[in-house]
Amino acid sequence: EPPAHCPPDVEQLGRATWTFLHTTAAYYPERPTPIQRANMLSLIRSLPMLYPCSHCGDDFGEDMKNNPPDVSGRVGFSKWLCERHNEVNVKLGKERFDCTKTDDRWKDGPTDGSCG
Ligand code: FAD
Repeated sequence: EPPAHCPPDVEQLGRATWTFLHTTAAYYPERPTPIQRANMLSLIRSLPMLYPCSHCGDDFGEDMKNNPPDVSGRVGFSKWLCERHNEVNVKLGKERFDCTKTDDRWKDGPTDGSCG
């Protein structure tokens, strides 16, 4: 783990980006307005072009061609994003995450209260 004042490596950048995306998904409206949907689509669709790990962005863009973003609401979008993250996990030999647990991880915290 490089010191905190160093530029991010691919792992740190990934953790920070997933934190942003999953948290944004967790707080996306249940019933987004057309403008909110359009903004979320723009955010997600711009990642393949802008994400500063180009092979990561390329693969994400390919995956998105087969699995278009579901921006219909919080539940569907959180699930869609969890599945995309799992595609990356599998590619990297990491464990799949249980997509029924995304709210516990990114919004509500565990039921044992250990996160305060
Ligand atoms: P991360 O995968 O960063 O996950 C952070 C935390 O999210 C985990 O600790 C877990 O609590 C939670 N989590 C895990 N899976 C899920 C899920 N499915 N849904 C919800 N929460 C979950 N790295 C590469 O080396 N090659 C790539 O091609 C690549 N592509 C990427 C594409 C994108 C769009 C992004 C955002 C990142 C990419 N990364 C890539 C980075 C990679 O996904 C990881 O972020 C990095 O390897 C650090 O992994 P980590 O084990 O710390 O946990």
